[in-house]
Amino acid sequence: MNSDHLNTQLLHWGEEEEHPFGAVVPPIVQTSLFTYPDIQARLREFNPHGYDYTRSGNPTTELAERKIALIEGADRALCCGSGMGAITCAVMAMVNQGDHVVSIKTAYPPTLRLMNEYLPRYGVTTTLIDGFTVEEFEQACQPNTRLIYLETPSSMFFHLQDLKGIADLAKARDIVTIVDNSWATPLFQKPVALGIDLVVHSATKYMSGHSDIIAGVVAGSSALMERVNHARNTFGPTLDPFAAWLLIRGLRTLDVRMERHQKNGLQVASWLETQPGVKQVNHPGLNSHPQYELGRQQMSGYGSLFSVELTPCADEQAHAFVNSLRLFRIGCSWGGFESLVLGWPMREPEAGKRPWLFRLFIGLEHPEDLMRDLEQGLQKAFGSR
Ligand SMILES: *Cc1c(COP(=O)(O)O)cnc(C)c1O
Repeated sequence: MNSDHLNTQLLHWGEEEEHPFGAVVPPIVQTSLFTYPDIQARLREFNPHGYDYTRSGNPTTELAERKIALIEGADRALCCGSGMGAITCAVMAMVNQGDHVVSIKTAYPPTLRLMNEYLPRYGVTTTLIDGFTVEEFEQACQPNTRLIYLETPSSMFFHLQDLKGIADLAKARDIVTIVDNSWATPLFQKPVALGIDLVVHSATKYMSGHSDIIAGVVAGSSALMERVNHARNTFGPTLDPFAAWLLIRGLRTLDVRMERHQKNGLQVASWLETQPGVKQVNHPGLNSHPQYELGRQQMSGYGSLFSVELTPCADEQAHAFVNSLRLFRIGCSWGGFESLVLGWPMREPEAGKRPWLFRLFIGLEHPEDLMRDLEQGLQKAFGSR
């Protein structure tokens, strides 16, 4: 199957061999183990089918992995039972006792928990930085720094890091780089091509795209992925074959979904900038974003998750805004078909008012419906114009 086009690749890559019965959709190989014809074969650790035990490898899961490795431009990808499973395997496979890690401080909170609460137990320390400039990374590096952990754009404040600049710095010092690429997806950002060593994803989000599975993936060079494979096999965060099958289904439409998410997200975000009650919209695709230029350099498109800061108001007003939304349901996660909202007060109230930050995920609904919903929500909170 020769095509340079990602959508054709996502549909057909890895499926050159006919599926049983000529089925268009691959089977779910829902088995925990694979048997051998005789004990000699098992002792030689050779299985004619190439599989032994689903924790170590499964044909359905490997099909998802082949597709993801291709679109990330990586030698190899390995799926895990969650994004956190993937991140934990990637990080734990790269650090040793006495090592130092540099990470951005706005990474996904459970990722920070791994670094702040677990790694110190094994003698690995972490320095957290804003990470707006390459110099900041340079200054944070110590002689024992072995890992730089990135998430760009970060999924709450939408801060960016300079992938190429940081990769160059890390390579010169023999430091491994990992980036969480869940927000942009490999369709819009290709960290491996910019020199980043390992890419991790919460495949729960855009990659699967239907809010029906929890999944993760790590992708990178053969040498590093061998270490990640060993960690995955030891810690055991296997992706269930049925979830892998749903992930394959999601990947087939990633390209069309991302185009629509991008368009809807930018339309709603730029409209929100003009609305009363809105102080600031944090979306890397808006001209107003302080790192807009960096985003244009290293991404070819944008995800549809962003945050909105309301002008300081009483908590009741913020509650009225979010509780009156009908199409945006209140919930964590993102990346599925449906729009979502989540929010927090940003600090203690002054004279009864404080700013609130709402993270909006723009789903695949019609953007006019979403804007109408947000408009009535803002009116409930701040009154009509
Ligand atoms: C959700 C998320 C994760 C964790 O993924 P799970 O599949 O929930 O374990 C990691 N990084 C980012 C940016 C996320 O949004």
